Amino acid sequence: MSRHRNVRGYNYDEDFDDDDIYGQSVDDDYCCISPATANQFIYSRQERQAPKGDTLEEEEDEEDGPMSPSVIPNLDPLDQAKLYSCLDHMRTVLGDAVPDSALTQAAVRCGFDPQKALDAVLSEDAKTAPVTRSAGEATAPVARASQEKAPLPQKAKQEAVAEKAKSRNGSDYKLDSEVVPKVARMTVSGKKQTMGFDVPSTGENGVAGASVRRGGSPESSAATLPSESTPKRPETPSKGLKGDEPSTVPTPGRSTGKARHTIDIKAELQKRLGGKPLLNLVVIGHVDAGKSTLMGHLLYLLGHVNKRTMHKYEQESKKAGKASFAYAWVLDETGEERDRGVTMDVGMTKFETNSKVVTLMDAPGHKDFIPNMITGAAQADVAVLVVDASRGEFEAGFEAGGQTREHALLVRSLGVTQLAVAVNKMDQVNWQQERFQDITSKLGHFLKQAGFKDCDVFYIPTSGLSGENLVTRSSVTQLTSWYSGLSLLEQIDAFKAPRRSVDKPFRLCVSDVFKDQGSGFCVTGKIEAGYIQTGERTLAMPPNETCTVKGITLHDEALDWAAAGDHVSLTVTGMDIIKINVGCVFCDPKEPIRVCTRFRAQILLFNIEVPITQGFPVLLHYHTVSEPATIRKLVSVLHKSSGEVLKKKPKCLSKGMNAIVEIQTQRPVALELYKDYKELGRFMLRYVGSTIAAGVVTEVK
Ligand code: GDP
Repeated sequence: MSRHRNVRGYNYDEDFDDDDIYGQSVDDDYCCISPATANQFIYSRQERQAPKGDTLEEEEDEEDGPMSPSVIPNLDPLDQAKLYSCLDHMRTVLGDAVPDSALTQAAVRCGFDPQKALDAVLSEDAKTAPVTRSAGEATAPVARASQEKAPLPQKAKQEAVAEKAKSRNGSDYKLDSEVVPKVARMTVSGKKQTMGFDVPSTGENGVAGASVRRGGSPESSAATLPSESTPKRPETPSKGLKGDEPSTVPTPGRSTGKARHTIDIKAELQKRLGGKPLLNLVVIGHVDAGKSTLMGHLLYLLGHVNKRTMHKYEQESKKAGKASFAYAWVLDETGEERDRGVTMDVGMTKFETNSKVVTLMDAPGHKDFIPNMITGAAQADVAVLVVDASRGEFEAGFEAGGQTREHALLVRSLGVTQLAVAVNKMDQVNWQQERFQDITSKLGHFLKQAGFKDCDVFYIPTSGLSGENLVTRSSVTQLTSWYSGLSLLEQIDAFKAPRRSVDKPFRLCVSDVFKDQGSGFCVTGKIEAGYIQTGERTLAMPPNETCTVKGITLHDEALDWAAAGDHVSLTVTGMDIIKINVGCVFCDPKEPIRVCTRFRAQILLFNIEVPITQGFPVLLHYHTVSEPATIRKLVSVLHKSSGEVLKKKPKCLSKGMNAIVEIQTQRPVALELYKDYKELGRFMLRYVGSTIAAGVVTEVK
């Protein structure tokens, strides 16, 4: 799936010179869709334009009807073109497993409709497999794949067809090929930033871009806002409110010259999404613990990946010699991730439980990508820690410099208090209770030390590969004989929704910047506090410039407003994209976030080998920011629990110490005090590839 890129300083011409798959997103009409998905999308469009009268019965009749190969040579040029494009599409799904003649016959039979033709080939395969296999290898591989692979049983296929028939009759008709999870890439420090949420076309809430006066100090910014730039608020009801108009009573603007429509944000939040609160969930754990497989399988079981796409992933991963990674490919989307078999970016997608709407972030486990993991974890409310139960593997992840400990410490330091531990690959140890208990007792001891309360940590035995205990409770007798607890999805559903700072001034940390169609550009990020409405003006810090929010999208839905906790894309106008960086904070112009290069903080040092002295160089990881910094001053050493000053002006700080220090960053960063905004007052310090401390901002200089 293609991603939006950070377009700062980007030479678009390059995109046309090389075949970089990302390049296609720039000038493409469907710039948010990958080449593979784009293919499907193109067909979707054709299908949408096609007469709607075709029913499943017709399709089945056609399939069963006699095939006349003589029609093929008589194709007119248009039909020939349709045939070739239909064949291309089928090959992207089936590969070379089915001979061309069979594909051609199916395509002609199905009127060059790639979806139907694929259905026909797949069901034909299943029917004829035993015969064909004995007669030759013709179509057997596909049939074998679908028979041997548990995740794609024939029954499921029939159900999918029935489901399709149902939905075709209904108003919510959705193409099979569209059922793929929308995986977004969260911004990753230090590499070309990419983002893959399908951002709906902007301009729907067509608000004219207002010209903004640039420059000025933070203090003057509010005063320089032109009051006459009040854009007209769109009249369209918010889709996100399910048709309920927000109780809009125009009042003088709270924050700018523009009239801000006062809304009862808490009541609106209650109404939104059918009252389901949003939960930001990050999946963490040592590399190869099975994070992507687990979550990819969960999404598949929840119907976010259709059978056909899954089949395609299976074929492709098998071809690449990585058959066991098929489910991981649902979330690991880049060629590099797939080639290396490791998650690098933070993949984001959405799913629902009975009582929550969950934004899922799949964080990379490999230690080379810890900064990316920090970015994901900083935006999470709760976490799923995946550990590998196989003999030796849990130990490798937990003890010998693995990432299990570091990840758990990081998420806790970044404010996550509720944790589900998926004790994964239990199939590898025959679902042994002793192994499960051994792992949970070792982990439990450590997690307590890391600051998790026992009552907020939940252990679930799972198998990401076979799908046991993910969505529904397992029926494997080896497990049910000793485990009767929740499945992973039930546990996610049972997490307490966090309290959001919706009453505080607006704050959004930018995790990506990209140019979309239309005027203005888009920024993506999580709203940490307050709320924003379309038509409002907002201040970006740094560079201390204002712009107008022209559109808001949350999980691909255009909204009139969004609030704390939402991962949104804002389309903004009236500002130069070049000035906005990942790490900028969009805020309320009247109550802007502080920007500084020097601040005081309380830090907790981890297991460091080199003591910290004055002038010590570090990398500051703060939300989406990764900024070189130095420890300018060692102010004091504190008592771990009482916080009392044990020593003033220490010469050095060693492992496990709690201390007050002053940190100087190379460039200005937007920060909040921990006491004002818990979410925005936390950071991590890293040094030569290891996380050395967690901290909270106590004073901005
Ligand atoms: P990640 O690096 O944590 O995202 O791990 P992946 O999801 O990429 O999985 C790494 C490997 O473990 C792949 O070969 C998976 O097929 C395998 N794997 C994942 N979950 C399970 C499981 O529950 N059982 C078994 N036997 N293998 C698994």
